[in-house]
Amino acid sequence: MFISEKSKNKKTVIIGAGASGLMAAYFSAASGAETIVLDKNEKTGKKIYITGKGRCNVTNECDCDEFMRHVTRNPRFLYAALSNFSPADTMAFFEESGVMLKTERGRRVFPQSDHSSDIIRALTERAQRAGARIMLRAEAESVRQDESGRFTIAVSGGGSIDADAVIIASGGLSYPATGSTGDGYRIVESFSHTIVTPVGSLVPIITKEEWPKALQGLSLKNVTLNVKRGKKTIFSELGEMLFTHFGISGPLVLEASSALAGGDTDNLSVYIDLKPALTPEQLDARLSREIAENPRRQLDNILPSLLPSRLAELFPTLLGLDGSVKAGQITREDRLRIGELLKRLPITIDGFRPVEEAIVTRGGVSVKEVDSSTMQSKLVRGLYFSGEVLDLDAHTGGYNLQIAFSTGALAGKSAASPAD
Ligand SMILES: Cc1cc2nc3c(=O)[nH]c(=O)nc-3n(C[C@H](O)[C@H](O)[C@H](O)COP(=O)(O)OP(=O)(O)OC[C@H]3O[C@@H](n4cnc5c(N)ncnc54)[C@H](O)[C@@H]3O)c2cc1C
Repeated sequence: MFISEKSKNKKTVIIGAGASGLMAAYFSAASGAETIVLDKNEKTGKKIYITGKGRCNVTNECDCDEFMRHVTRNPRFLYAALSNFSPADTMAFFEESGVMLKTERGRRVFPQSDHSSDIIRALTERAQRAGARIMLRAEAESVRQDESGRFTIAVSGGGSIDADAVIIASGGLSYPATGSTGDGYRIVESFSHTIVTPVGSLVPIITKEEWPKALQGLSLKNVTLNVKRGKKTIFSELGEMLFTHFGISGPLVLEASSALAGGDTDNLSVYIDLKPALTPEQLDARLSREIAENPRRQLDNILPSLLPSRLAELFPTLLGLDGSVKAGQITREDRLRIGELLKRLPITIDGFRPVEEAIVTRGGVSVKEVDSSTMQSKLVRGLYFSGEVLDLDAHTGGYNLQIAFSTGALAGKSAASPAD
């Protein structure tokens, strides 16, 4: 992305020093605008610190078309922002900043050091070196615009700052301890912007069944999670999931939730295939063999060869069978039921954990009221948006940070542009 005309006289205030606000700050300052970033936290990039389990999956090494397939909300809105600042640009940006990167399974890009702090440092230093001033422990309380179009941002502690342009990069509602507490929604509602009701996406699932709770802490690897609405399969993927004190979580479940969050959970059937590598016929042949070879063994002692021990222990109860039954006494009908449950272990969704526990917020500032080629509000000249505050969200894999970077880069550059 080119930084074109210098705009010495413009002053931009950015609310939020997260992934998006810091990238916006770099592009705004590098484009010549006087740039001030406000964050209510005591340090920059607090959420980035916890991304990717502390390793920061910073982007996904894919082209824009592939990227769009992973954006669950308003992918077309992102086209201009992604073309301006693509995953390749993100990788170049960090490598030029001295952060060497590596690409892992699923094209997920991480810093070679496995330290998210390297990403925060690079973003903060690049923004500062370009000339941006970062004010910490500075909470934006309100934004007003006078008749001449100039903004006044009231800052906690009684001060205020004026600006020609304001970029709202205040994040969504998830993990509020990182500073994202929905302030941006409140601020822009005063400008009559529409806020699409925020809900969690990439969020754990609460189950109606009690048994998953008994397996709290157990993780299943290489299982398939299937979700159907009526007869239509809406999610079917192989991976890892986790039982918790409220139901299910882990990578597969978070990914499935992004196909479901905010929608109706009635008429959904969810089931786990515990043996995805085997067809029902192969599984039945294996069960038949185990039974024939060990007629005196109890069912309890046969199941651990097929399942993790804690799940194996619970399995006879789920089938309504007595675990002490001898293999030789298991009827054909019961053997078929065991196979059926191994291939289709049903789960009933009772709801989702709250947005505060979600990886990303679905909903936020309606993109219908934002110009996708600049990130400027269609309602208020000089007001811009970037990152998770917008009604945009994507799958796991580095896509959400890339959305923050792409929209931040475009908002920063546009806000500094004399034409806007
Ligand atoms: C546990 C977890 C792991 C994740 N892992 C990944 C990952 O590996 N890869 C990936 O792509 N995505 C990941 N994400 C998602 C990603 O972190 C976010 O989508 C992204 O950080 C959003 O960036 P943002 O700048 O829009 O918002 P944020 O990062 O939330 O930043 C907003 C900033 O605004 C500040 N702020 C808010 N209100 C005010 C105010 N009134 N005044 C001043 N400052 C204010 C906040 O303090 C905060 O610093 C993860 C999220 C979580 C919760």
